Amino acid sequence: MNDCIFCKIVRGEIPCSLIYQDDKVMAFKDINPLAPVHILIISKQHIESVQSLDKNNSQIVAHIFEKIPYIAKEADIAKSGYRVISNIGKDGGQVVPHLHFHILGGRALCTALG
Ligand code: AMP
Ligand code: ZN
Repeated sequence: MNDCIFCKIVRGEIPCSLIYQDDKVMAFKDINPLAPVHILIISKQHIESVQSLDKNNSQIVAHIFEKIPYIAKEADIAKSGYRVISNIGKDGGQVVPHLHFHILGGRALCTALG
């Protein structure tokens, strides 16, 4: 059993503010929001990061990106716009080693990436 924090959320061992789920993904509010809307969409399967994707598991990314427009619409940021980010590894600022994408919106985001 994996004891990563997001695996625990998937198993219901840690509560979350659930926005959407199906058999493959889960979306919930970030516990430390950096914008008025800050939602995380994660794979239910434990995949460490984008760097761990390959031809056997990368279909999950298409599924995640199919759901993002729906989640953004429900969160009322589809028209105003938003940003999708995935942090990878140490220099990427990844803290939780489980594939996830941040959906940030509800205010104008700064243009700098670094
Ligand atoms: P990252 O730096 O990309 O790994 O981001 C991990 C994100 O997970 C951070 O924005 C945290 O605020 C968020 N986070 C950590 N624990 C939880 C939790 N239990 N529920 C919701 N969000 C969390
Ligand atoms: Zn995990």
